[in-house]
Amino acid sequence: MDFLDKLLSIDFNYILIGFIVVFYSMEQILRTRFNFNKRPGHLFHNLLFQIVLYVSNIFYATVTVFSIVWLNKHQVGLLYLVDIPLWVKLVVGVVLFDLTTYWFHRLAHKVPLIWSFHKVHHSDTTMDASTTFRGHPVESLLWFGTSNIVAAAIFGLDLTTMGLYFLVSTPFVFMEHSNLRYPKWLDKTFGLIFTTPNLHKIHHDQDQHYTDSNFSDIFIIWDRLFATYTYKPVEEINLGLKEFDEDKKQTFWYLMKSPFIKIKRIASEELTNIDKTSV
Ligand SMILES: [Zn+2]
Ligand SMILES: [Zn+2]
Repeated sequence: MDFLDKLLSIDFNYILIGFIVVFYSMEQILRTRFNFNKRPGHLFHNLLFQIVLYVSNIFYATVTVFSIVWLNKHQVGLLYLVDIPLWVKLVVGVVLFDLTTYWFHRLAHKVPLIWSFHKVHHSDTTMDASTTFRGHPVESLLWFGTSNIVAAAIFGLDLTTMGLYFLVSTPFVFMEHSNLRYPKWLDKTFGLIFTTPNLHKIHHDQDQHYTDSNFSDIFIIWDRLFATYTYKPVEEINLGLKEFDEDKKQTFWYLMKSPFIKIKRIASEELTNIDKTSV
């Protein structure tokens, strides 16, 4: 596992920078239906989220590492009960981290307090790869950080497996948010098992029926298994949330304070009415 150790020793921030540069450039060259103006401003506001996240992550990472090391030391978790080869443990571990993320993501849509922070990620009405960065720092504490510790506690997963999970899921999340045109046959083949970019875009539709579906990060099988899978042709998707559909509500400052402001969620039926009146 020498190669894996070397791979995991790379500073994760370099990996993020690499992905954003590659995807942002490709989006600029290959224009798509979701093409929009003012990309530099959009990038600027989303990058501010990543900077805040970088600072707050120093705290979250310390808590996560400390907790998982403690759990492993006391051999807490189901995988400690079975004797399986290391590589099997790694593969199964990545699958189990993804399963836990699925349930925490579903919870984030269900629990109003967590949704008030998670909706910042959904607020983007003009998505591109930089939307990957748009997430409220408090959400990381309520959801991401807790999710990984809970996965480690239930299943007995370690830090190497978590590092591998991040390595595998990162290209997925950049692709899922990227503003590129992906063929539909990808959804019909790869999309039977994995979350394709089009399937995640459905999760970013303004209609709550679709927002509350396709929660999976890597394996769409969780949505298929737990009855939260939906499909809609990508050209029919309206990105974002209607209640954030104004330029002044797309800024870093507004989005940071938005969980503390009373913002009424616009339901599916109301959306249809708005559409009818605007025709
Ligand atoms: Zn979501
Ligand atoms: Zn997303």
